[in-house]
Amino acid sequence: MTVSNLPKLAFVGLGVMGREMAGHLIAAGYRVRIFDISSEAVGSLSESGGIASTSVAEAVADAEIAISMLPNTPQVEDVVYRDGVLAHMPSGGIFIDMSTISPEATRAMAASLAEKSISMLDGPVSGGPVGARNAALSIMVGGERSAFERAEAVLKVMGTTITHVGAPGAGQTVKLCNQLVCAVNIQAICEALALGRASGVDLAQMRDVLLGGSASSWMLDKLGPAMIDGDASAGFRIDLMLKDLRLVLEMAGQNDVPLPATSLVTSQYVEARAHGEGSNGNQALFRVYDRMTGQAASRGTAVAAGHR
Ligand code: NAD
Repeated sequence: MTVSNLPKLAFVGLGVMGREMAGHLIAAGYRVRIFDISSEAVGSLSESGGIASTSVAEAVADAEIAISMLPNTPQVEDVVYRDGVLAHMPSGGIFIDMSTISPEATRAMAASLAEKSISMLDGPVSGGPVGARNAALSIMVGGERSAFERAEAVLKVMGTTITHVGAPGAGQTVKLCNQLVCAVNIQAICEALALGRASGVDLAQMRDVLLGGSASSWMLDKLGPAMIDGDASAGFRIDLMLKDLRLVLEMAGQNDVPLPATSLVTSQYVEARAHGEGSNGNQALFRVYDRMTGQAASRGTAVAAGHR
């Protein structure tokens, strides 16, 4: 029997992202105790070698590094304060929250955990389900550098670009700035496509031209075709971006920074969700412009087509 020198891990939150990330750690030979409030999620990953736990407390009880990948701030706070990380994780360990949550709440949790000699890193990710599946996530990490260096090998199993960006909360701050740029860029593309469509130009050709010049962007490249075709279904969900934009505005309020463009695009995401687009991809923001202009994309004939 070989005894592994790898740190013992716990992973909490086995949804769209977490199950792929935990799966890579298991495949890389780490002993990973897994927990999710969905017993189905735990069951399917235990078939690949994860050790099923029945609570957060049980999962983290002997963990040297515990990772969470949860929907939002309240769930991470529950896992830390109520369900067992603070009370049951051994001192000297590192807790890495990889969800996208509030930087301020992150700093408060890091301070509480530090009192128990547990280091906290915030390591939100960019790259979506495809990046998670291919272990190609970009991970932006806040927290003490020494803890980052101890955890870096584990993070490298899940991502390709791992950057320490500063003190606790800095990872979340950078991630929220990333989301701000993405959302405002998507809105700019929607406006250009709405104007081009109303003026009768060929939108596919217009996109090709823009990609070749200074208006080029990742969003235009990756989401442009689905916007033009009226294909709303796959991709990063409208409701997840809306959650992130609300975190951006909360942070802006705390720092007295006016963000007029972000406020406007957030209202449009609210409108999109109210029209049943919450589980559609971000390209479905263009349907807000379908409704405002009374015009629909070439595929998905009726404006309401594809609503869920
Ligand atoms: P998800 O909803 O698919 O998964 C979350 C998991 O957490 C679920 O399995 C749920 O059962 C579990 N959970 C909820 N509360 C829990 C609790 N108290 N204890 C234990 N488990 C609990 O979400 P996701 O798409 O995997 O996203 C996770 C995080 O990653 C979010 O913060 C999201 O914003 C961020 N993120 C998502 C994407 C994406 O494209 N999906 C991309 C980048 C970042």
